[in-house]
Amino acid sequence: MKKIISTVILALALTSCSEPKATHDEWQERHDRECASRITKFNYDGHSYLLYKDGAHGRGICHDANCECREEF
Ligand SMILES: [Zn+2]
Repeated sequence: MKKIISTVILALALTSCSEPKATHDEWQERHDRECASRITKFNYDGHSYLLYKDGAHGRGICHDANCECREEF
């Protein structure tokens, strides 16, 4: 019970602070960082791929633009 109360108090303390309004650049930087944290690079069959995971909302895979096979052109 104490743990629940402590958690609620901590949540209230964190949300009650009035944060200064973010500029568009700050918002974009946070958004970029959040999206980048969902990308995993992996190798398969000699190529590099990017796997994008977004919880239960979806996944995507694309051929890495920096894959070594693209340096041959
Ligand atoms: Zn490739």
